[in-house]
Parts: sequence; C-alpha cells; structure tokens
Amino acid sequence: MLSRRKLIKRLSSVPILGGLVGGLPLSLEAEAKPAPKRDLFKEFGIRTFINAAGTLTYMTGSLMHDEVLDAINYGAKEFCLLDEIQDKVGAKIAQMVHSEAAVVTSGAFSGMTLGLAGILTGMDQKKVEMLPHLAGTGMKTEVICQKAHDIVYNHALTNTGCKIVVVETAEDVEKAINEKTALMHFLHIEADKGKIMHEEWVALGKKHNIPTSIDIAADVPPVENLWKFNDMGFHFVVISGGKAMRGPQSAGLLMGKKSIIEAARLHMPPRGFNIGRGMKVNKEEIFGMYVALERFINEDHDKVWRLWEENTAYVENTVKTVNGVTTSVHVPPLGNHTPTLRISWDPARLRITGKDLQEALRKGDPSIEVGGSGPSNIGVTVWMMKPGQEKIVARRIKEELTKAAV
Ligand SMILES: *Cc1c(COP(=O)(O)O)cnc(C)c1O
Repeated sequence: MLSRRKLIKRLSSVPILGGLVGGLPLSLEAEAKPAPKRDLFKEFGIRTFINAAGTLTYMTGSLMHDEVLDAINYGAKEFCLLDEIQDKVGAKIAQMVHSEAAVVTSGAFSGMTLGLAGILTGMDQKKVEMLPHLAGTGMKTEVICQKAHDIVYNHALTNTGCKIVVVETAEDVEKAINEKTALMHFLHIEADKGKIMHEEWVALGKKHNIPTSIDIAADVPPVENLWKFNDMGFHFVVISGGKAMRGPQSAGLLMGKKSIIEAARLHMPPRGFNIGRGMKVNKEEIFGMYVALERFINEDHDKVWRLWEENTAYVENTVKTVNGVTTSVHVPPLGNHTPTLRISWDPARLRITGKDLQEALRKGDPSIEVGGSGPSNIGVTVWMMKPGQEKIVARRIKEELTKAAV
C-alpha cells in the first residue's frame, strides 16, 4: 500500500488534482505545487557536510523526516490562534508523555526558563511583569542543584533572576532549603556524577514541599525517558525537539504539572510583558514537534538500533584494516545514547594527529565532520547520517589514515 506521503507526492505530480492535495483549499493550489528547486547553500557558498559527529547545535542539530517537513509546510498555509494550537497540541502531547500538561517551547533551554518562571509567579500577572527583578517582590529566588549538575545550561534558570545554590549530599539539600527556595533542579546526563539519584531527589523535594525539575535535553533514546521522569514525580521535565527526536531544532517540550505549565504560558508568546516573549514558537514548530514526537514514539527502536550497530560496524571494520589502527565502540548510558565509535592509531606508525585528520575530512569531497578528536584518535557516530553515508565516511577515513602511514 502507498503511504499517505507517497500518495500525496504522486497526486501532486498530477496538475488537475493539485488543489485537493492534503485537503488544502483550492485557493492555495499554486503554493501546493513543488517550488522551483533553488540551491541556497550554493548561492551563499555555505559548506554542507556529512554529519559523523552527532546532534550538535553548532552543526544545526539533526535532519527532520519528511513527515515533519510536511507538517511544517501544511501548518504554514493557514492562520490559527497561537493559544488554541498550543492548548490542543499540548493536551495531546501530555497524554503521550504521561504528564498533566505540556507545551511546545523553543528548545529545552527555554523550557527550563519558562517552567521556573511559572513556579515563581504562578498565575499572578503583576509578578509575571516583574521578572527577572525578584528583589522585594516576595517571590522566591533560589534554585538548588547538585555540584555535578551545575553546567552552562543552568543559565536558563538564572535568566529568571534566581540564583543557583550548589549542594553535594542529601544533608546539604536539607540545609540549603529555606523560604527562598523555588526549585530543586536535576541534570539527567550527569546523574552518575552526583551523589543523589533521581528518586531521592524527588523524595527530598516532596518532603520539603519544593518542586523538582529535570533536564533530559539529549536523553532519548531510550524512548521511555519521555515519560519515565513524569511518572517519577518531577514537577517539570524539559527535552530538546531537534536532537534524537529530529523535530525542529528551534523546538522542545516543557512537560509537567498543570499549574506550572499554565503559569509558564503567561511568560510565552502571544503575551508580551514577560521574559519569554523572545522564546517564540509558531504553528509550524508546534505541528513539526508534534509529528516528530509521534513518529519517534511509534518508531521501531530495535530496528533503528540494529541499523546503527551495523553501520558503526561497517566503519569500524573498514578502518581497522589499516595497520596500526584500533577501534572501540562505547554507548554513553545517560544521554546521546547511541553506538559511539572511537578510532585510535599508533602515532609511531601513522603520522597524523586527530585534529589533522578532522581537518582533512572537513576539506575533502564530500566534506565530513567527525566527533571530538584526541592526539591520535577521532570519534564517529552514524545516527545523523543519511543511508549510505557510512560507506563514504569509512572510505574517506581509511584513505586519510592509509596516506599517513610511515
Ligand atoms: C542541548 C541541551 C540543552 C539545550 O537544549 P535546546 O533544545 O537546544 O534548547 C540543555 N541541556 C542539555 C543537557 C543539553 O544537552
């Protein structure tokens, strides 16, 4: 059977049916036709490359599936009320991730700012307008977080005007909690570096009636992480849309308690007079995020994993044939959970540094970006590659390493 997408593609090549495609009004027939192909990357002289590195913001994250792009294009062709689409799509997303409520944000980072802002102000519009100036307002001003979890992204929390109070032990938490404590924030990707694990963190918050939050920005797969922390009792959970879920890079999810999400919405467009006015997502990101999430949840994750393993093994087996090269595959347990290949070599036998190999691959045709390099190693992941690119990457790495043989 033809998939809906394939069917639409076929139908749109029949001009007379163009107006019916995807249920679009006839007046939009012209826009429904494929636009003339324009190579904007070429026009601007922008280098594109095979991504053998991973879901990195500075490399523009991930590539969206056609269903997601279709949803974005579809959404772009009608007007609707921004609040109505956030209400309705948010309610559906909440069901899918086991939270009371959810909203599409402009990434995990803004989700952290907005979630905390909602906790600080509740539904008090006067307070909403005061952020980030908390002094003398009666609003709480402190967020507790473990030392190992206090990374650069916590700037999302201090954007509200709050400061971070760093702790290490459960005893520290009990001492740090006071009438100014707004939130206890947890960072999943560094969970094993802290002394307090998820359940204990939530229990400590419950004991003292302090809301808890968790940043799982880069932490699917496994897909269960989408609901695991909502089920565990965190008051809000944030995740990036444009990493492994391959939604819009400018989107993410804020999931959590209804009262928090409702209050967070007061800090978001379409409303002004708030710190979140610049964190805008429109119907395109909202539909795109929703379809990416749905697709991700319904994906055959075992099959995807096997493909990642196969493609990683292909690269590994190809480059290993060069004398002096050794490889290992590691799966980061908490975030960026995907087979990650390290290719190392004996510097006495292959005269090339990791940085030089990275640069040679970057300058080659096609250009390739690989992951973090050491003095005589590089990293490769296959999850952001298009089908077949693993062969090109394997061949190019082998070529450059072979050239470097003494
Ligand atoms: C990527 C990332 C963020 C930021 O997420 P965006 O969706 O880009 O806003 C926050 N925290 C962690 C741990 C991340 O990896």
